[in-house]
Order: sequence, then C-alpha cells, then structure tokens
Amino acid sequence: MTTTLKQALKTHFGFDNFRSKVQEDVVKVVVKGDRDVFVCMPTGAGKSLCYQLPAVMAEGITLVISPLIALIQDQVDHLRNLNIPACSINSKLPAAERRLILADLGSSSPKLKLLYITPEMVASPSFQPCLSGLCSRGLLSYLAVDEAHCVSQWGHDFRPDYLKLGELRGRLRGVPCLALTATAPKNVQEDIVQSLGLRSPQTFVTPVFRSNLHYDVIFRELLPNPYVHLHAFVQEALALDSGSNQQGCGIVYCRTREGCETVAHQLTKLGVLAKPYHAGLRAGDRTEVQNEWMQGKVLVIVATISFGMGVDKANVRFVAHWNFAKSLASYYQESGRAGRDGLPSSCRTYYSPRDKEQLNFLIRKEVARRQEKRGCAKETDKSAITDFDAMVSFCAQEACRHATISKFFGDKTPDCAGSCDFCRDPKAVRAQLEKAAVLSTT
Ligand code: ADP
Ligand code: MG
Ligand code: ZN
Repeated sequence: MTTTLKQALKTHFGFDNFRSKVQEDVVKVVVKGDRDVFVCMPTGAGKSLCYQLPAVMAEGITLVISPLIALIQDQVDHLRNLNIPACSINSKLPAAERRLILADLGSSSPKLKLLYITPEMVASPSFQPCLSGLCSRGLLSYLAVDEAHCVSQWGHDFRPDYLKLGELRGRLRGVPCLALTATAPKNVQEDIVQSLGLRSPQTFVTPVFRSNLHYDVIFRELLPNPYVHLHAFVQEALALDSGSNQQGCGIVYCRTREGCETVAHQLTKLGVLAKPYHAGLRAGDRTEVQNEWMQGKVLVIVATISFGMGVDKANVRFVAHWNFAKSLASYYQESGRAGRDGLPSSCRTYYSPRDKEQLNFLIRKEVARRQEKRGCAKETDKSAITDFDAMVSFCAQEACRHATISKFFGDKTPDCAGSCDFCRDPKAVRAQLEKAAVLSTT
C-alpha cells in the first residue's frame, strides 16, 4: 500500500516523499476510511495534503470547510495548477459558474474531487439539495474541517458559523470526518472533538516546539529609537548585509492601521522597503501588497493580524510583533509563520507595558460587555483572560520562551538549546526587566 500511496503522491502532487512520518500516517488512516481523524500539527507541516491526497484517490467527492474565501481561493488555484478538479461554492461566485458546478455534482459521475465551502455556505438553504443528493448517492468520500480551532469558543479565533458544522457532521452519517488545526491547547482540542461530534477519532498531535525559531522580547520603551532598533533587526534577520542571494522576507504585526502606516514608513525611510497591509486599504491594494510580498518585490509587510492566516510562504525569516499579541495562542500562531522551510528564523516581540495595559483594559471591557449581554459569566470568558495573562508571562518572566509556550499547550519542556534570549543570556533578560521596573516607577 505504501508504494501506491507514494506513487499517488508523486503523480498528483509531484512530491517524492511525505513531509514527515506523521503526514504519512495520517494519510494512511484517512485512506482506510473507517475512522474520524483529528490532526494538530504546526503551520507548514502539510496538513492540507492529509485530505487532498486521500481525496484524489477516492471515488467520490471530498467536502472541505475552510473559514475564509481567500484561503479557499489559494487552495483551489493550487489544486487546479496540479490538474486536480477542485472548486469552491461561495457567496462571491457568479450564478452561471455555480450552476455548472451544481450540474456536475448532480450528475451520475461528477468530475469534481474537492469541493471547498465556507461554513456559512454549509447552512445556506440553496446548497442543501446538492448536499443531501451527494450523501444519499454515497458520493461523499470525506468531510474535512480545516482551521478546526475556529469551532471552539475557547480558541483564539472563534467563528460562530463553525458551530453549524456539528449539525452537518450529524447529517453526513458514515462519511469519515477529518478535523485539522495548527494551534490547540488541550481544552480546545477536546472542544473541537465534541463540537464536531467526532467519534473516537484517531488523534495526531505533534509537539508545538519548533527548534528553528529563535524567540526574544525587547522592551520597546527602553529603546532610544525603536524604529532604528527594528530596522537593525530586519537587516540582520534578512541578512541584508551579507550579500546572500537567498533572499528571505518578513512580517511586522501592528495592532492598528496607523501603526502599520507609521512602521512601514519608518522602515522604508531607513532603507528597507516595507508596505502596510490593513483593512483600511482597498481590497485591490491589499491583494497587490500581498502579491508583491509573496513575489519578494517587497521584503517586509507591516500588517494587522488580518494578514497571514493560510499564507503559505516558506522563507519568512522573521515575524516581529510591534504591539502585544492578544493571547499566547494567537502569538504562537502568528509568530509561527516564520521558518516554515525549517531554516533558522527570528520571532521578536517589542513589549511595552503601556501597550499591554491598553490591551488588558480592552479585553476585560469586551469580556464584561459579553457577560452583561448574556447576563452571566462563562468559562470561555475566563479563557480569554488566562490566555492574555499567559502572553504577559511570556514577555515578563525570567524563563525560557519555548518552555513557556510548550507548557501553555500542555507539552513537555523542550530542549531549547539557546533558541531564545533567556537561554542564551539570562542576565540580559533580567537586566532588561530591572530597567523596565525602574522606568515604570519614575
Ligand atoms: P499547513 O496547512 O499544515 O499549514 P500546508 O498544507 O499549507 O500546511 O502545506 C505547507 C507547504 O508544504 C505547502 O507548500 C505544501 O505544498 C508543502 N507540502 C505538503 N506536503 C509536502 C510533501 N510531502 N513534500 C513537500 N512539500 C509538501
Ligand atoms: Mg492549513
Ligand atoms: Zn529557551
């Protein structure tokens, strides 16, 4: 069986080998088709292939749920380039194209292999006949739920529409379901399994530790000129002085639109072309900036967190957070966009206690607002605050940054081996904290 799997991998995707033993194991279990499967592997581990390869090998159609139309578009384009019949039904699709797709799905032997839809679409009345038709004719091979953490209110990226998937799963009896996510602490994992109604799923969870990522924290307020500091970091991370032709690129995350504009402007002024990306730009401009960055014409993108989910770029050499992330889970995910190719990469947070206080205030206000609306407190409220506090500890503790992350996700303490500022130079980390403490009392 292994040889035929490998052959299929080569034929359809052009890969000689599985990316990892886990990827191969997942594919084997999915192909067997007698169990639900839960996969939690870091960004870039190649989760999509875990359902795409079984999908092309199966008789019928694989239904893939993904949260964003942009993400779906990338995947569909990618599959089509590989000559794999894939498409998406979504609210933006012209009526004529939609009719074509529905006609194919209604035919006795549909050509389509992968059908991508957003969770809103799942519930749309217009789609129901098609879905039940496929199901009753036994043409659904798999249900794959990508970015499955979106189903959990404990998670950092909850989407109410994902809750409809439990019901969908219930209707598709006998269709094996595959849930995939990159970030899920234990409680979120359990929530996913429960919300999607997975039946004793086979679970593949790889540890969160990634040894090629170097984490550090810089107190922004202690810097004479933070922009110059950031610029030096960018230069080093991209090895701009070394004359290396292996050009990487990077992401700077800011909380606000204005922040993006300012940082991009300052970096460019200092000599590194950087462009802002945020919801205040026109959609066309946003796409253009993203493309320029993907193609390496712009080395640094300065973005709000609306940028990055599903962005598949291997040579991101750094991710810098100019502002504090709202939780350790989201920080892990955002910073984890660095170093997907496995090469050394830097993840830096520019920490500012004032910035933190602002966010602290916002988060608690939001939680209070939700409670008031609901009339009661919920466990999930606490989780937003716990997760935020974990991010504070990450920045303000004298401890290995990798260890803090692993502990948060319920993993064993990893062997950092100098891949964070604390393990490299604990004294410097302490000195910085002491200086900051002095500053805050004056
Ligand atoms: P994830 O969803 O886990 O973040 P993706 O599915 O987007 O990861 O895959 C990341 C990258 O890895 C993609 O460019 C994909 O083509 C590539 N990839 C996946 N499987 C393999 C493989 N077996 N060999 C080489 N590259 C692979
Ligand atoms: Mg993915
Ligand atoms: Zn460490």
